[in-house]
Amino acid sequence: MTTATHEETLGFQTEVKQLLHLMIHSLYSNREIFLRELISNGADACDKLRYAALDNDALYEGDSELRIEIEHDAEAGTVTVRDNGIGMSRDEVVSNLGTIARSGTADFLKQLSGEQQKDARLIGQFGVGFYSGFIVADEIRVRTRKAGSAEGVEWRSRGEGEFTVADIDRELHGTEIVLHLKEDAKEFADDFRLQSLVRKYSDHIEVPVRMPKVESARDDEGNAIEGSEITTWETVNEATALWSRPKGEISDEEYQAFYKHVAHDFSDPLTWSHNKVEGKLEYTSLLYVPGRAPFDLYERDGARGVKLYVQRVFIMDDAEQFLPLYLRFIKGVLDTRDLSLNVSRELLQQDPKVEKIRSALTKRALDMLKKLAKDKAAYQTFWNTFGSVLKEGPAEDFANREKIAGLLRFSTTHTDSATQDQSLADYVERMQEGQQKIYYIVADSFNAAKSSPHLEIFRKKGIEVLLLNDRVDEWLMSHLNEYDGKALVDVAKGELDLGDIEDEEEKQAQEETAKSKEDLVKRVKEALGDQVQEVKVTHRLTDSPACVVLPEHEMGFQMRRIMEAAGQPMPEVKPILELNPVHALVAKLEGVEGEAFGDLAHVLLDQAIIAEGGHLDDPAAYVKRLNALLMA
Ligand code: ADP
Ligand code: MG
Repeated sequence: MTTATHEETLGFQTEVKQLLHLMIHSLYSNREIFLRELISNGADACDKLRYAALDNDALYEGDSELRIEIEHDAEAGTVTVRDNGIGMSRDEVVSNLGTIARSGTADFLKQLSGEQQKDARLIGQFGVGFYSGFIVADEIRVRTRKAGSAEGVEWRSRGEGEFTVADIDRELHGTEIVLHLKEDAKEFADDFRLQSLVRKYSDHIEVPVRMPKVESARDDEGNAIEGSEITTWETVNEATALWSRPKGEISDEEYQAFYKHVAHDFSDPLTWSHNKVEGKLEYTSLLYVPGRAPFDLYERDGARGVKLYVQRVFIMDDAEQFLPLYLRFIKGVLDTRDLSLNVSRELLQQDPKVEKIRSALTKRALDMLKKLAKDKAAYQTFWNTFGSVLKEGPAEDFANREKIAGLLRFSTTHTDSATQDQSLADYVERMQEGQQKIYYIVADSFNAAKSSPHLEIFRKKGIEVLLLNDRVDEWLMSHLNEYDGKALVDVAKGELDLGDIEDEEEKQAQEETAKSKEDLVKRVKEALGDQVQEVKVTHRLTDSPACVVLPEHEMGFQMRRIMEAAGQPMPEVKPILELNPVHALVAKLEGVEGEAFGDLAHVLLDQAIIAEGGHLDDPAAYVKRLNALLMA
């Protein structure tokens, strides 16, 4: 370490080492993205300087023409990306280019299996950023100086676990990144290649990206005169903010490329919605639905929200106030004239205009999804990826409940398939004559839902039931009381009322059976004591001897188990035991006396609880009773 340059060598944070390793091995076929990432960082740096200079013009240091420059040297095998943006201080260099700030990173990396590590798309979820330079370079040198400060810094590393920082003199503010290309990546030190990559990835960013153009004077025969070369800088990208251009002029490819820039994603978005609003509110929004989930979708502090601009000046990434939590998968840009340039996250929380824009963007996003739903295959991809996030909607956003309900997809007994691809509208269309309600069941797994005894009568009568088994489903249904004017009813709760689907004759017959079993019901209740709230005869069942039912307003079994797992003590709830009067076991029960009666009654109750996915208080007692009966 020489004190003059204050040089020191530091180790990368463990996560960085892991990321570097994964990236170099898995992104091999996507190597060119390094340029997009470096330009994107340069553009961010220019945005940040412009924002900081609003208060302090001097930060431009007399050079307010923000730009990115790309140069190469084929002989030396280098590519240089330079910006005159905000630059970095020494401390910033050490923390920005030595660690990964995003929380949850370590966990995500740890979770990846060997196979997954080779999957470029998984790494892509992550936003590879600056470190992607090491896919093509075996050494990177960064020279930077923070605008307004006198101290320049050089950072260099071979991407192998450590990096070195030193103080340097640097005239220009901003950052210069020199990639020393690997032997097999020299192809990138090429004018044509670089130009086409800039156009492919960075056309839409507002900062001009320039490349040197060498021109020579010509002699009479048109040959270049040696020694007469002059270099001019040529802007190679379009250099207007994509969202500020009229819709009709923007191609799908441009929208897609811009998405990749905003979302740091490799793959194309499923759809987008670009809107310019003038009037009381003035804003332009460009919202995208990604094709896949980021790794931190379910992390409490995962990155979400839109990129916020005010009058084209970049203000912040991940402005989360403009979309509700249940739409946190939406990516995009919001540019508005309604906020002031010095708006902060704190101020956003108080500004009533933010609420108005939020409600407008929410509506846009929901409309965009509705449109996407017309394309069944694309919507299915969306649903499989983000469906369980959207299911948080009805609880969070009461006003848009009906709209969100229309976007939900379910498994149902109509297909008996685990694929959630049926809408409530599909269900309503298939409703039977006289059917007034939408029926559903919630269980812990798809199979448990599909084979629940509660469905027997519905299957017999051909009435469709929604099969729910996601963790959020009971929560969802407790906030979704009706759709299209039809009540949503849990078939495992309360009285079974099939309304007009049953005729008078059936009802009469049921009442008569109930009467004839009054004595049996009384005996079973006595045998089970306070283990059950009530015993009844039911006509829900065709194949099973018994089932347990919860009172109508009681929290369901699924939610109880989730709450209990979260350490929340739950008051005990006693189920109602319902017996199938035409089942052979129930008929047998009627003829049994004494201890055997008690055993059989308990076994019926325990079996009904098991069929519901519940846990027995005393499983050993159940086994003992069952064995006694088997041996009798
Ligand atoms: P991200 O851009 O998603 O934050 P990166 O890995 O691309 O992640 O960059 C890490 C950080 O390094 C950036 O957030 C920024 O603070 C800093 N940085 C990278 N490149 C530049 C640059 N050209 N100018 C200023 N800061 C930069
Ligand atoms: Mg970046």
